[in-house]
Amino acid sequence: MAVKKLEKRLFGTNGVRGIVGKDMTPDLVLSIGLALGSMRKGRIAVGRDSRTSGESLANAVKAGLMAAGCDVVDCGMLPTPALQYLVMHHFDGGAMITASHNPPEYNGVKIIEPDGTEMGDEQTLLLEERIFSRNFDVKSWEHVGSGTTATQLVNDYTDAIIRSVPENIGRNMSVVVDPGCGAASVTTPKILTGLGCRVFSINAQVDGHFPGRLPEPSLDGLKGLADLVRSTGSAFGVAHDGDADRAVFVDENGRFIEENQEFALVADHICRKHSGVVVTPVSSSLLVETIVKKHGGSVVYTPVGSIYVARTMRDLLEKGEPVVFGGEGNGGLIFPDHQFCRDGGMTATMMVAILAGSDLPLSTLIDQLPVFHMIKEKIRVAHPEHLIELLAESCKTYHIDRTDGLRITKGDAWALVRQSGTEPLVRVMVESAVPDSARKFFQELMDYISPVLKHE
Ligand code: MG
Repeated sequence: MAVKKLEKRLFGTNGVRGIVGKDMTPDLVLSIGLALGSMRKGRIAVGRDSRTSGESLANAVKAGLMAAGCDVVDCGMLPTPALQYLVMHHFDGGAMITASHNPPEYNGVKIIEPDGTEMGDEQTLLLEERIFSRNFDVKSWEHVGSGTTATQLVNDYTDAIIRSVPENIGRNMSVVVDPGCGAASVTTPKILTGLGCRVFSINAQVDGHFPGRLPEPSLDGLKGLADLVRSTGSAFGVAHDGDADRAVFVDENGRFIEENQEFALVADHICRKHSGVVVTPVSSSLLVETIVKKHGGSVVYTPVGSIYVARTMRDLLEKGEPVVFGGEGNGGLIFPDHQFCRDGGMTATMMVAILAGSDLPLSTLIDQLPVFHMIKEKIRVAHPEHLIELLAESCKTYHIDRTDGLRITKGDAWALVRQSGTEPLVRVMVESAVPDSARKFFQELMDYISPVLKHE
């Protein structure tokens, strides 16, 4: 798939982010609003997650958009996928104030295109160019845009998810939600209740200090969720990141489900009914491809980043390819019948649908998946790009894929070597269904790498 990443100065793969008051300031966000408003006309939706700086930065982006002539509708606090859904159906674009899974001191902006997808690289470069050159189309008094508030619109999103599955599909099922005091506090408990589930919650009060756990839903922060699942006899527990485009799970015993297993379980459920194309980055476990192929489907790989997955899914569908599902091995799953972005609330709903259709508990469904062994390592190196080229040369007799970084397949093992976007290091991951193959291939790569590190 010929999807290539372009170098950006300000925006990363998922918008622009920084520490509030240091590199993420109202000045910068005002510039983003002015630049976006100069590029996009019409009605623009603005939303924010639960961060303490959200209101301030939302007002900055709104000021810029209105000054550039856009009519702004403030949708209040809601998950990123909720704003994306609303933009797709009602608006000419959107701006979401969020730092996703980053700690409380961070905030940022994600730009949403009229079709609900995040802004792609080419448009983002044009936006950056306007910001750096201060090329803004500031309007005179009679053309300044209006500002209104429509916080009830989030109900369109929750209602659409509830309607996407059979009525009362979650009856007789107890579940626990941990939104981490983030944006899903206002949506996922409501969605699961709407599915007929008996819903318990933890960290479901909106609080930008994130007193219960950090916005990243990692294993360490989910003990409270696991305990509540066990004590209530719930079928599963679901936790979101700060802006709820991702969902991770614990089973009925409180055991954390590795995100590639989550992806594979949902892929199994979808491909069992509709075999087709599943789109995922080159970093995803071979477990996903194994499951998809079992049902006669195929996998298309993209660079790492949900935007590449989402846009590839949309482009393939436009070409008539039967794309049924997509996502990343980090709990960010994309359901093309719903919308082309990761959606944590929809993912939680899918888990209810899977368990409602199964006689087996979640732990058993996970244990039935094939087992793969993954080794991950971070290597500090002064010139990551040189190291990657050296590995490409050393491994040239194996199958090499350059979709993103260096993906090498050797027999029943594969490796991905990628440069970090922010630090002088490379990330190495090696995986195989055979533990020994993974270990040996990892050691082989380290043998190529070690002499370089010694000479630094
Ligand atoms: Mg997120």
